[in-house]
Amino acid sequence: MIFDTLVILSAMASPPRSETTLNVLVASSEACPFAKTGGLADVCGSLPIELSRIGVDVSVILPAYRHVMESGMPLEELPIHFDLPIGNKVVSGQLLKSTLPNSDVPIYLVKNDEYFDRPELYRENGEDYRDNCERFAFFSRAVLEAIRLLNMPVDLIHCNDWQTGLIPALLNIEYIANPEYEKIASLMTIHNMAYQGNFWHWDMLLTGLDWKYFNMHQMEFYGHLNLLKTGIVFADSINTVSPRYAEEIQSQPMGCGLEGTLSEKADVLSGIVNGVDYEKWNPAIDKHIASQYTPNNWQQGKPACKKALQEEFGLPCDPQIPVVGMVGRMADQKGFDLVADVIRDWVRNNDTQWIILGTGEPNHESMLRELAAEFPHKVGVKVEFCEGKARRVEAGSDMFLMPSLYEPCGLNQLYSLKYGTLPVVRNTGGLADTITDATPDAIAAGTANGFSFKEYSSFALAEALERARDMYVSDRAQWNSLVDTAMQQDWSWKRSASDYENLYKLSIERKRLALQSS
Ligand code: ADP
Repeated sequence: MIFDTLVILSAMASPPRSETTLNVLVASSEACPFAKTGGLADVCGSLPIELSRIGVDVSVILPAYRHVMESGMPLEELPIHFDLPIGNKVVSGQLLKSTLPNSDVPIYLVKNDEYFDRPELYRENGEDYRDNCERFAFFSRAVLEAIRLLNMPVDLIHCNDWQTGLIPALLNIEYIANPEYEKIASLMTIHNMAYQGNFWHWDMLLTGLDWKYFNMHQMEFYGHLNLLKTGIVFADSINTVSPRYAEEIQSQPMGCGLEGTLSEKADVLSGIVNGVDYEKWNPAIDKHIASQYTPNNWQQGKPACKKALQEEFGLPCDPQIPVVGMVGRMADQKGFDLVADVIRDWVRNNDTQWIILGTGEPNHESMLRELAAEFPHKVGVKVEFCEGKARRVEAGSDMFLMPSLYEPCGLNQLYSLKYGTLPVVRNTGGLADTITDATPDAIAAGTANGFSFKEYSSFALAEALERARDMYVSDRAQWNSLVDTAMQQDWSWKRSASDYENLYKLSIERKRLALQSS
């Protein structure tokens, strides 16, 4: 009953629509510097700024987590309160407003303390919050209501990951009756297939949608409610964060069970490599590092960063010893098991130093802590989330490790290129699209910018690292020229933002054609 009333209320208001500008609302569960656990936050904090520069009228919407409230960003409480039906409850929320740093891109924050005033975003002590489906069903409904309440013109909602997967379904099922919402297109961006928002079937009640949608072609996945699948099925377009990953996820094992659903939607599925915000990730202006440097003077600046990093991680300060750095979520995906094997093998045979920063699965955290305790002169590990340290690892290391089992895009290798730290990566997903292995041919062509290996094994990783180490130790001129190539490459959003703009236009056209034919 309440539900029907809200739908009718929604139908009464009419957000104005600009005929000329492209109006986009980016819905995300993370955006820098408000709330971050990984690359999603970097993307949703920086892509909108570049979109706005190229003329897209863009806003962002995010839950007002405790992290947001304590982020130090200025937050304006809007006099906008609303009630939403979630299961058999009526849940209240409020909208806050801020802007993305150094821009006038508005960011709206959905406040509900019961759901979002918590120490973490999704999980604590290795366990997901039990009400995650409810929290993000509320957020998804709030995104749609915010459009009406803010009188916001929107041509397309850019949804990101499972937390926003319900939005395309709500648009197509519930809001389709509203003439102002019916034209709004949706794009579903998949940042990582391994996180799908799988919940027990009774959570279907929280979505407010009819059980008829709980079938294997729409919202159901082996007896569970799957919110990523829901987004994929109902969105007008789907993309992921690199062309290689867009291909990989259409088959096993990268599709993580949704390969069939994705191949069926292959005609509307594409890949766009993420960009880097060089106003932030740039050694020429980075205040977190010991010495700033550019592609022209890195040979002066980088040694100071290396020395400071060795000190910070308690390792001997020797400029000649190669330093291998790694930063990341300590999840199975990231290849920490391979790294531990190689470290154990190498500590006895050569004088490489290893510097690792990350947080995540308790077994990985303790394995790496033990390695650091066992080999304190060669292995430095910090189990914490600290952006300053992450930048110092990027700047002070000689090589940057990303031996991922899979990697949708990966941002750290792009940061490494800018910081003149050559990536050693597994040839998968976005790593394959961005890192060109230093083969003799690639070196001759001037395209080599790192080292890569194919097979997921410590043997293959060691072989690539050996090649990198050999070049660093025995052919510094060649090494330096690779660093020059890496630092001069442009992986900024300038490259990719116009691809997003085109994809938005294409999605809006798809929606228009679908409406015409229905
Ligand atoms: P993913 O999104 O899978 O975690 P990405 O490489 O795309 O991987 O992005 C990871 C982002 O998270 C980078 O900005 C990286 O610097 C940051 N990050 C990961 N772990 C940490 C940490 N412990 N401290 C600081 N930053 C971190």
